[in-house]
Amino acid sequence: MIAIIAGGTGSVKLVRGLARLQDAAVIANVGDNIWLHGLYVCPDVDTVVYGLGGMLDEERGWGVKGDTFSFLDQAKKSGVDAWFALGDRDLAMHVLRTQMLARGRTLTQVTAHFAKAYGIRSRILPASDDETFTIISTDAGDMHLQEFWVKNACRPKVKGVRYSGIKSARATSQVLDAIKSADRIVIAPGNPVSSIGPTLAIKGVKKALARRRKDVVAVSPLIGRQAVSGPAVKYMATLGIEASPAGVAEFYSDVAGSVVIDSRDAGTSARIRRLGVEVHETNITMRTRSDEVRLGRYLLRKSAN
Ligand code: GDP
Repeated sequence: MIAIIAGGTGSVKLVRGLARLQDAAVIANVGDNIWLHGLYVCPDVDTVVYGLGGMLDEERGWGVKGDTFSFLDQAKKSGVDAWFALGDRDLAMHVLRTQMLARGRTLTQVTAHFAKAYGIRSRILPASDDETFTIISTDAGDMHLQEFWVKNACRPKVKGVRYSGIKSARATSQVLDAIKSADRIVIAPGNPVSSIGPTLAIKGVKKALARRRKDVVAVSPLIGRQAVSGPAVKYMATLGIEASPAGVAEFYSDVAGSVVIDSRDAGTSARIRRLGVEVHETNITMRTRSDEVRLGRYLLRKSAN
């Protein structure tokens, strides 16, 4: 069994590739969860569910393919500042999940319900059943990650990032068991600060991973000094993490014994090895399904050595 620490749009590609090759437990980020219109929305968890369920809109990288946005249009007409795109089909997830949670089921149980309904064989495990929210401090004030990313299109200047509620958030027993019992553990190419960071910050997770360090491999979300997509570089710079594959390796060096970087970054490998982190170089861009499986196979081969 392979355990995969995942975020959303970048991670889901590798998750899909690996899940085709091996029994997988996907530990999904809950730090970008948000309450909207009375609904509990879990963007990264849902990206993994839709991705493995074959429903993901791959053009956008989020939401359900072929979805419509009548609810959103009507909400806007109704004078509501409906800035977060909730599709009509997608709404089923949020409405039903919120109802199940209100009836006392955990996010882990609710996610398992949907995974089963959609015929997904891999286990999808929210990192925590507790609420923790990623807050971006900016020159326009503090705001939820989604508010910064979606509502403000990343425009305000980032001054800091924190995870509210993180002190009382607990990893689930399913997550800790998966880390303990996995043959190998992959940190998917996700945003280190907003997708992987929140999971690592949950009490118990870092310690559990550190115990498995030699079996943990992280895939860089950066090629050169650029993220393949999204604002990773902005967040990393603010937290004093060097925006480079070496910076990623250093950030994960307590928990990951090896990293996979792009072949074009091979010049940085010696520096990464000096951090005590093993390095593998390959093509880490996933544009097609066969790229996803190719990278998945590469990881399984390297981590078996
Ligand atoms: P989010 O929650 O939607 O931001 O998604 P993730 O955090 O899972 O993914 C975003 C990160 O994945 C970004 O930092 C991208 O640079 C990275 N990424 C996206 N596509 C790829 C890819 O094909 N290969 C690699 N190595 N990284 C990718």
